[in-house]
Amino acid sequence: MIASLRAAAILVAATLPGFLPAQQKAPAAASPLRSAAVSNLRYEVSFDSATAARNVIAVAVTFDVGEKGLVLLSIPTWTPGSYEIANFARFVSDFSPRAADRPLDWDKLDYDTWRIDPAGARSVTVRFDYHATTLDNAAAWSRPDFAFVNGTNIFPYPEGRGFEFPATVTVKTQPGWLVATGMEPAGAPGTYRESNYHDLVDKPFFVGRFDLDSAQVEGRWHRLATYPAGAMAGPARSLIWDQIEKTVPRMSAVFRETPWRTYSTLLVFTREVGGGSALEHSNSHVGIYNPGFIGNPLLASITDHEIFHAWNVKRLRPADMWPYNYARSQPTPWLWVSEGITDYYADLALVRGGVVDSAGFLGLTGEKMQQVAGETPAALEDASLTTWISPVDGSQYQYYPKGSLAGFMLDVLIRDGSDNRRSLDDVMRELYGAAYKKGRGFTGQDWWPAVSRAAGGRSFTDFYQKYIDGREPFPWADILPRAGLRMAADTVREPRVGVATAQDSSGAIVVQMVQPGGVAEAAGVKAGDHLIALGDIDVMDPSFGEAFRSRFGKREGDSLSIKVARGADTLTLHGAVRLVERVESTLDLDPQASAKAARIRNGIFRGTTEGQPGR
Ligand SMILES: [Zn+2]
Repeated sequence: MIASLRAAAILVAATLPGFLPAQQKAPAAASPLRSAAVSNLRYEVSFDSATAARNVIAVAVTFDVGEKGLVLLSIPTWTPGSYEIANFARFVSDFSPRAADRPLDWDKLDYDTWRIDPAGARSVTVRFDYHATTLDNAAAWSRPDFAFVNGTNIFPYPEGRGFEFPATVTVKTQPGWLVATGMEPAGAPGTYRESNYHDLVDKPFFVGRFDLDSAQVEGRWHRLATYPAGAMAGPARSLIWDQIEKTVPRMSAVFRETPWRTYSTLLVFTREVGGGSALEHSNSHVGIYNPGFIGNPLLASITDHEIFHAWNVKRLRPADMWPYNYARSQPTPWLWVSEGITDYYADLALVRGGVVDSAGFLGLTGEKMQQVAGETPAALEDASLTTWISPVDGSQYQYYPKGSLAGFMLDVLIRDGSDNRRSLDDVMRELYGAAYKKGRGFTGQDWWPAVSRAAGGRSFTDFYQKYIDGREPFPWADILPRAGLRMAADTVREPRVGVATAQDSSGAIVVQMVQPGGVAEAAGVKAGDHLIALGDIDVMDPSFGEAFRSRFGKREGDSLSIKVARGADTLTLHGAVRLVERVESTLDLDPQASAKAARIRNGIFRGTTEGQPGR
C-alpha cells in the first residue's frame, strides 16, 4: 500500500434551483462554494423539558453580513475521531432564516449546504430544530431530562471562508438543569467563546439532569459528568477518580506537557447499548456504556485511551487530517499510530500508574495477541485507510489491537537498539514538538527517521514492509526475549455453548447460528433468538465471558439454563455444561532474562530509560 493515497469523495454541488435571480449565482471565476463574508457568529442552543418532549435541540445562529451576495451555511458530514460519514444535516428541520421581522429566501445548494439570500440585511438569524435521536458519541441524543450533542451536529459554518473565525455559544436550559462542556466560559452563565471553528465543534455538551463533580489533577481541573443522575455513585465513582488521578500524570510524562486548562469526562450509561464506546476531543471525551461498566476495570482502560488521544490524534495528528475537513472523509494509513499506539499507552498508563500490576499489563497485551491471531491477517495501513467504508473483509478496527502491538514492538526495538536509553516515548515527544507544535500534521518522513534515531540508527524499512504495509505475523519469538518476556502455552478447559452471536443495532445479542450437536441445539435455541442470560449471568455484563467461564468451567454435565427472547416470549431453556479443551498462550516474565532485557522490561512497566530514571 502506498502511504500517500488520498481517496476521498468530494461533495459535488447540485444544480442550482431556479428561484434565485441568475445574477446572484456565484461568479464563474470564484469557487461555487464560497459564502458572502459573515462575521460575529453567535450560536444559541436551547434544550429544556419542552424541546426534550420532541427530542429536539433548538438552535439559532445570528451573524453580521459583510457584503452583497448569498450566504452559504454548511453542517459537517462527520465528527473527527469517528471515521464515518454521518451527514448531520439530515437531522435538521424547520430551517428558518430571518432578518429583523421578515423571512428570507433560502434553498439547498447541496445536501449539507443551505443558501440564504439576505436581501440587503446586515444581520441575519437562522433558526432550526436538530433532532437528537442518535445514540452515538459523534451525534446527539436526548431523553426527557437530558441531552448530549456535538458541535459538528448543530453549528453551521460559512462555506469557503476558512475556519479561523471566533464565535460565542449560549446554552439555554431550565432552572435546576446543568451544562457540562470543555468550552471556554465567557462571562455570563451558560455563555462560552472559542477562537476558531475547529475548537468550537470539538467540545461536546451535556445538558440536563446528571451528576457532576470535579477534582484537581496535576493542578488542573478535571470534571466528571455522568448520566443518569445516581448511576455512578459511591465506590464506583471514587474508583474512576482514583484511576484518573493515578494515570493522567503518567500520560503527561510522555510528552512532558499537560495540554488542557480543564478536562471533562462525560459519560452516559444506558441499557440501550450492550458494550461501551467513547470518542475523544482535545479537552474532553464522551463515553456511552452499558451500566455493567460501572465499577468494571475496562472503564478505566477506555477512559485512559480517550484521555491519551488529547495528545495523540487531537494534537499530534497525521498530515492527512490536518486541518480537519468537515465536508468529506479524510482517510489516512496512520490510524495504527493514532488509535493503536494510543491503546498501547492506555495499557502503559494503567501499569505505570499502578492501576494494574505487571501481570495485569501482560494480560492485556496477551489478549490483544490472541485477538489478532484470530483475525484474517490485514496490513495495518490498509485497515487504517479503509475504516471509512466499514469493510466486510475482517480488517476493520484491526488497527486497534494490532496497532497497539506494533507500538509495543517498536518500543522494545527502540529500547533494545539504544540499550534502554530511549523508548517510544521519545518518538512520540519528538513528533509532538516537530509536527504539532509547528502547526502541522506528521508524515512518514517524520515518523520513521524519528523511530530509527531513537533506536540508535537501526533501519525500520524491513519492519515497515513486513508488519505495517505487509501482512506477516508479528515476530514474537524475536521480540519477546529482548524485553525479558516469553509466551507460555496453557491448556484450558472451558464451557462451550455452541452458538455464533452478533449484536444488533439495539445492542441485543442475537443468535446467528446454532452449532449442530452443540449444547444450545440440544436445549432448543434457534437462530434469531435474543440471548438474555446463561445461568444467572446477564450476557450484557461486560465481564460476562470471565464470569461464565469461572461459574460453568468446572464440571461437565452441570445444568445450564439458557434464557432467550423469541418474538414476544421470554423462554428459559435447559441444557447441560460441556467443556472443550483449548490451548491458550499467555505472556509471562522470563526468569532467564538477560540483565539488559530485564532493564528494558522494567523500563516499559515504569516509563523509564537509562538516564531518565523515573519522573
Ligand atoms: Zn481511540
